[in-house]
Amino acid sequence: MSTLSRRAALNKMAASGLTLAMPVLVRAQSASSRVVVVGGGFGGATAARYLKMRAPGLRVTLVEPSPRFYTCPFSNLYLAGLRDWESLGHGFDGLRAAGIEVIQAAAQDVDGAGRTVTLSTGDKLAWDRLVLSPGVDMRWNALAGYDEAAAQRAPHAWKAGPQTQLLRRQLQAMPDGGSFVMVIPDNPFRCPPGPYERAAMVAHYFKQHKPRSKILLLDAKDNFSKKALFLQGWKALYGDMVEWVGLADDGRVMSVDAQALSVETAFGQVHRADVLNVIPPQKAGWIAQRAGVVDASGWVPVKPESFETTRVPGIYALGDATLAAPMPKSAFAANMQGKMAAAAIAAELAGQPLPPAAYANTCYSLLAPGYGISVAGVYRAQQGKLIEVPGSGGISPLEAKPALRAAEAAYGDAWYAAISADTWGREA
Ligand SMILES: Cc1cc2nc3c(=O)[nH]c(=O)nc-3n(C[C@H](O)[C@H](O)[C@H](O)COP(=O)(O)OP(=O)(O)OC[C@H]3O[C@@H](n4cnc5c(N)ncnc54)[C@H](O)[C@@H]3O)c2cc1C
Repeated sequence: MSTLSRRAALNKMAASGLTLAMPVLVRAQSASSRVVVVGGGFGGATAARYLKMRAPGLRVTLVEPSPRFYTCPFSNLYLAGLRDWESLGHGFDGLRAAGIEVIQAAAQDVDGAGRTVTLSTGDKLAWDRLVLSPGVDMRWNALAGYDEAAAQRAPHAWKAGPQTQLLRRQLQAMPDGGSFVMVIPDNPFRCPPGPYERAAMVAHYFKQHKPRSKILLLDAKDNFSKKALFLQGWKALYGDMVEWVGLADDGRVMSVDAQALSVETAFGQVHRADVLNVIPPQKAGWIAQRAGVVDASGWVPVKPESFETTRVPGIYALGDATLAAPMPKSAFAANMQGKMAAAAIAAELAGQPLPPAAYANTCYSLLAPGYGISVAGVYRAQQGKLIEVPGSGGISPLEAKPALRAAEAAYGDAWYAAISADTWGREA
């Protein structure tokens, strides 16, 4: 199978809910058990839906503070003016219709030994299994001067919401000939290709509306996902508008002055911006820390065959919060992990063996309308580790006809529609 048709097959699999090895459908034995899922994003909503599908008698409760979830995937297209804001929003009625109890609240504390979770409403829920998919939190002040107040002037826009809308307004208000500076962290962080897709999408917007403007990317590393493809695409589509500076060339930013909209690098160079986008280092969402499942890295170690945490039995963690390398911190990966964890929990509660664990990922990036690229991989659990299956997956070729880039842009659109329906169900 060619790389692209293999990738199309992976997408179909994800959209149809099939994993590489189909676990058994478990029904009666788990009827009296309760699973509480914290976080209604890609990992959590998927786990809730697939738990209810696999074990309809199970009581499944989803705890999420927002009435509507806005996705980071495609938020760069919103910055470019290619998507409107509401097209990124997904409600929870599809989950309710599937028989899942959705509670609009935040989880505030977890008692792993007593098996309860306390909510912001003051209610305490008992659970037999707990699934945490809280996404990431920013490490405020890991870059000197970059805290929550600074993010109001120099947005990270790395959680889709008011930050993303603020960055869009700033780009719209920027004069032609201005400079957009992005600060990019070292690994690991949410969505490895995301900053580079954002650079392309901002360049697309500038090309239409502010063609004399410049984009400077200050990066704390020398290599990044799909690097050669991004460098080639930026040049071909936007000429010299996008400049990327890696670690070796003093790209690492050490401090941020949000009032002055300037940053200082490791070797003391100061760069001033008209619009400053700082993506700071990150860690697992704080509720994971409260639950006692985080290690010294700030992330959650998990068993690769089930995504049960290694620290507290009965608590599972998914998505960006976890240490799941070589899988990237992506929506595709979180959705896949949600399905596997659901299968593992349903089997375990029914006293059946765990199904074999296999996972896949594809990350599409859009560089301009009709110009898409991607990277894909297949993973499995082997001797307590996640490994990338040798010879699996692939990356878009460097030498490609425009028709291939156009096809990948269309696959990306189809992927977004498919994964949204797979995660939150079809909305009425
Ligand atoms: C700009 C950008 C572009 C991206 N593009 C892509 C892409 O094209 N493809 C791709 O695969 N991935 C992409 N990603 C990555 C993707 O957004 C994440 O990997 C994905 O959202 C991770 O899912 P998650 O379930 O771990 O966390 P999230 O989807 O962030 O969900 C976390 C949820 O938990 C909730 N929560 C947090 N704490 C609590 C609590 N205490 N109680 C209750 N609820 C809580 C939050 O409100 C949130 O709804 C992109 C990311 C960015 C920033």
